[in-house]
Amino acid sequence: MAALASSCRIASSTNTRFATGMKTSFDMLNANAEFAARDKAELGEALVATLFDAYEAQMRTLVDAEAAIEATSNVLQQIPTQWTEYVATELKARFDSEVTKRKRRAEAAGEIRYLEHPEMKKLRQLRRMAEGGGGAAASAADEDEEVQMTQELRSFKCPILQADMQPTGPNRPVIATVCNNKRCVFSYKGATSVYSKKGEKCVITGCDVKVKVSDLKDCHEVAESIRRALQDASDEPPTQSQSVD
Ligand SMILES: [Zn+2]
Repeated sequence: MAALASSCRIASSTNTRFATGMKTSFDMLNANAEFAARDKAELGEALVATLFDAYEAQMRTLVDAEAAIEATSNVLQQIPTQWTEYVATELKARFDSEVTKRKRRAEAAGEIRYLEHPEMKKLRQLRRMAEGGGGAAASAADEDEEVQMTQELRSFKCPILQADMQPTGPNRPVIATVCNNKRCVFSYKGATSVYSKKGEKCVITGCDVKVKVSDLKDCHEVAESIRRALQDASDEPPTQSQSVD
């Protein structure tokens, strides 16, 4: 067991270096976007749009890579303490399946995992700045995107169960207060199926906090948003609303 634990430690420290590298990659990508936004007049509308499309695609790749590193780190941390009995030949398969399970869980959040990522928000902000003064066509496309984003955020899916949350009842939103951010919101049903009394690592990508059942509190803010969204949906076709930013 000692040899396994020490291998895990070595692998974990490599992963930590990857994670540091991720931060650099995000910074470089947004630095390029800043240049594009600054030089928009010289580059021209079409090129700026092409560049930002490419940056957004790269950003998605980075967000996925970050989630993959997160998943392996998480499993590596568990091995020395929780895999007390194992067969050496089964280790690889078990590791892979545990990592896949975590990646699936991250993917279950859907589009929101990209849209709500702070680096993607920064990039989209730069894009709005770059394309803001770019004539009627560009701003119409921008508005379309805004509407689409709002609709996506309005689906209010539980990241664990991937089911729509409801303002009340077992699918009501609860927030993990210890995480100290507004991202870690789940349905009560989903959260209580994953988190324990002892505490489990938060399932939201990029959040390392240990969450206990007692840390879950009803999230009135999101419940209210869901209530409003449901109301809007039952009203006439939704009118343009302001960004959720
Ligand atoms: Zn969290």
